[in-house]
Amino acid sequence: MVNPERFSFFPSPAEGETTYSWITRYHLMSGHASFRANTMALLGVLHGRASNEFPSFLPQLSVAADMPLSTIIHYMTPYQYYATFLPEKLRQMFREHLSTGQTRNLQSIMGTVANRMTPGQQMYSCRHCIREDIEQYGFPFWHLLHQLTGVVACSRHHELLHAVPRIKSQAMLPKLVIERPSKAMEDRYVSLIQEMHKLQNNMFSKQQCLLAYRRRLCEMEMLTTHHRIRFQQLRELIGSRLKGVEVGVGAFDYLKQQLSNNQFPECLFYQAHVNHHPLKHLVLIDVLFEDWHEFIVEVNKAYVPLEAKPVVISKPKRSIELSHKAQSLLRAGRSLRVVSKVVGISVSTLKILAQRAGILVDCRPSKVFPDIERSILRLLTLGEKTSGIAATFGISVGAVEQVLSKHPELVILRNKIWFHQRRKFHRSAILMHVEHNPSASRKLIRLALSASYIWLYKHDKSWLYEHLPPEIPRSERFQSKGII
Ligand SMILES: [Zn+2]
Repeated sequence: MVNPERFSFFPSPAEGETTYSWITRYHLMSGHASFRANTMALLGVLHGRASNEFPSFLPQLSVAADMPLSTIIHYMTPYQYYATFLPEKLRQMFREHLSTGQTRNLQSIMGTVANRMTPGQQMYSCRHCIREDIEQYGFPFWHLLHQLTGVVACSRHHELLHAVPRIKSQAMLPKLVIERPSKAMEDRYVSLIQEMHKLQNNMFSKQQCLLAYRRRLCEMEMLTTHHRIRFQQLRELIGSRLKGVEVGVGAFDYLKQQLSNNQFPECLFYQAHVNHHPLKHLVLIDVLFEDWHEFIVEVNKAYVPLEAKPVVISKPKRSIELSHKAQSLLRAGRSLRVVSKVVGISVSTLKILAQRAGILVDCRPSKVFPDIERSILRLLTLGEKTSGIAATFGISVGAVEQVLSKHPELVILRNKIWFHQRRKFHRSAILMHVEHNPSASRKLIRLALSASYIWLYKHDKSWLYEHLPPEIPRSERFQSKGII
């Protein structure tokens, strides 16, 4: 064990700093000649890399720096990132290994080696953060949030993080290097991951998690009548999001490859007993829940033991399929009108189904040309109303809707966009009211903004209660009646 007397001083850690960064700064300040032979040796580390995600010297560091071990584990290592999706028993084991310095087999214990998403070869930094840190603290440091797998950009400065290789035994602080601005989807993943990492109360079982996924898939009509997951649709949705992350950035290439091999997201459901990398869950959560908070609300709702109260899964609407007969008639060149009569599906539905199946049909009545269709698609993806798009292009709403119906995944996306727009609108209405009427009670706010209040009560209850003034205790309600 390390002798704390030998450490005459130890710098305080900066907020959000990694253990490696902290020790590096200690080393640079101490004036030791060698990082490995002096500083690391003082911590009792003769082999192994100081910059590992989970270094083996945490117990020694805790003594040397006189800081509780649990604080170091929770705030200076990516413990929370990995622990969130681990079952409680494994989580406990994870903590024990970190607390005793037995970190050699940690990745394999957590099952993250097999999926080749272990980071560890590189460290990441943001030049703008470096500048700010020097301004605020007087020194640059490695940010823990920047090191989480899947965090490819800085959430505050919207620039791609700069990567440098981890060198086995070198004390190194980040340097200023310019990278390209981050893309919207890259930012989205970053904020989801950081949101998850920030909250320390993410405790749920694997069963709760899978149940929440299934319930949401059911709401999104992505379960078949036999309650099987429509993986094809789900993969398309995930694929459309992953496309927003540039090739070669972070661990996403591996996920894209798994997606095209039909291994992901299937693995999360079919190999439920295996522990999967958090990023796999997060990419699915992004598609199903949009943000971490909503997932947590759902996951807690989903905690209904299956034996006691089975989850009732409503029967999804049956979608109309293009029969083999209709397909062969259309391929043989029969007109839509004729085939419509034979198979008993309306001409417009038949046309959509045929286009979806890639069968060329006579599209003369359509007023939408391919180049316009692309522009329409772009606007639809942004959540623009069909009536507005129709007016922009001087075509009928029906023509726009026909474009939309060829892309069923867009309908889901648009609903989500609108949900978020509404939520933003109602949230800011409440915030503005509270700001201008600081003494208003909950009741007064409800009366003044009933629509926003009810909407948030239904869809965003915890946020609403967090941002309303505190409830007047029942005992005091009578006295304050005059001002309610
Ligand atoms: Zn930054």
